[in-house]
Amino acid sequence: MSSMGTVSAEPEAVVIVGASAAGTATASKLRRLGYAGRLTIIGDEVVPYDRPPLSKQFLAGQWAEDKLRLMSPDQLESLDARLLLGTRAVGLDSGRRTITDDAGRTHPFDAAVIATGVRPRMLDALSAGRPHVLRTVSDATALRARLRPGTRLAVVGGGFLGLETAATALELGVDVVVVEPSTLPLSDRLGRTASARLVDLHRSRGTDFRLGVSVAGSSRDEQGVWTLELTDHSTVTAEDVLVAAGSVPQTDWLAGSGLDISSGVRCDAMCRAAPHVWAVGDIARWWDDRHQAHIRLEHRTNAIEQADVVAKGILGVRREAYRPVPFFWTDHFDARIQLAGTYSADLTETLIEIDSARESTITLFQRDDRLAAVLGWNAPREIQKYRRQLLLEQADRSKAGV
Ligand SMILES: Cc1cc2nc3c(=O)[nH]c(=O)nc-3n(C[C@H](O)[C@H](O)[C@H](O)COP(=O)(O)OP(=O)(O)OC[C@H]3O[C@@H](n4cnc5c(N)ncnc54)[C@H](O)[C@@H]3O)c2cc1C
Repeated sequence: MSSMGTVSAEPEAVVIVGASAAGTATASKLRRLGYAGRLTIIGDEVVPYDRPPLSKQFLAGQWAEDKLRLMSPDQLESLDARLLLGTRAVGLDSGRRTITDDAGRTHPFDAAVIATGVRPRMLDALSAGRPHVLRTVSDATALRARLRPGTRLAVVGGGFLGLETAATALELGVDVVVVEPSTLPLSDRLGRTASARLVDLHRSRGTDFRLGVSVAGSSRDEQGVWTLELTDHSTVTAEDVLVAAGSVPQTDWLAGSGLDISSGVRCDAMCRAAPHVWAVGDIARWWDDRHQAHIRLEHRTNAIEQADVVAKGILGVRREAYRPVPFFWTDHFDARIQLAGTYSADLTETLIEIDSARESTITLFQRDDRLAAVLGWNAPREIQKYRRQLLLEQADRSKAGV
């Protein structure tokens, strides 16, 4: 990727759009690095909050909304930023270096950070009946109000979000049916052994899987009960339906900006989308020079690690490419699954039992005897050891320029 030139030492005005994990982490990092210029944060939600608990503790009713906050009022205050919450950015002009918002204000910038994340993907077969989605605290509040013992929830999509929600709903006494087009959910992300184990765990707790099929059509009766017609001509009835079928980057507001917004905001290896414009978090499709491809990661840890890269890039104190060791976790019943590195189907798998009482295991994924990824199942301490190893190896390769 060609270099796009650098921003002069300290920009006078930084404008961040999106006030969630990636946006607030970028703001905090800028201040921690000593940035003393003007900082504006524009976010269309009312409070910066964290999303992972929305399908777990918050949906289960264990956590109140306050506990989701990413920053206390004091921490927000200490950012010394102009906080425009409840405000939507509606345009970015990369030539003039301005952002406009839905109150008609124009915000000039020397550096802009796009942190507007993703929204749930809707399915045509369900769009007429207003199914649930799960991205925001209001989505989670609406779903939570419906999860009553004895009712049935149909989850369309057996990815992380769909299966986590299924686990939480089952624990609340709800009957759950999961409809998923693949025959082994998540095997492309966790490998066959762990995904088969996850499916077994779900089945043992009551999840009714309809695998290898998708929803062809749907209707609702006068009581609001859904009937889903599946592609194998079977049907599922349920009081509620959750669509968990992937996401769409929130780039609509960037139409006409001159940026490449195909499947996210396309960036260089330092997460820069254009001179003076960066992208961070779920929305950033950055050039990964190891895989020779533009990629996006929708993981909480990526939002934080990329924020560090972007803040340093804005201040001109980092020139190296972003080469993360991806890391995420997902919780189902009493199982915490964590994965460090990048899984792919060509890797060889070695399963190591850690503690049979905790049912904890580590799976090593290797290519030519080199560790490429590690999966921990109820093994939080052990996985951190392998994650450190992957990070050290990555740092050595970066130093050696490979
Ligand atoms: C239910 C759920 C569970 C999850 N669980 C896990 C997990 O267990 N492990 C894990 O690693 N990751 C998990 N994730 C993913 C993780 O939450 C995301 O990777 C993280 O939130 C990304 O942060 P972000 O700031 O890039 O995007 P977001 O959190 O999506 O924030 C983007 C913000 O920008 C705002 N915005 C959008 N457009 C505009 C605009 N035009 N103007 C102003 N503001 C705008 C949005 O409203 C939002 O507030 C989960 C996600 C969800 C939804």
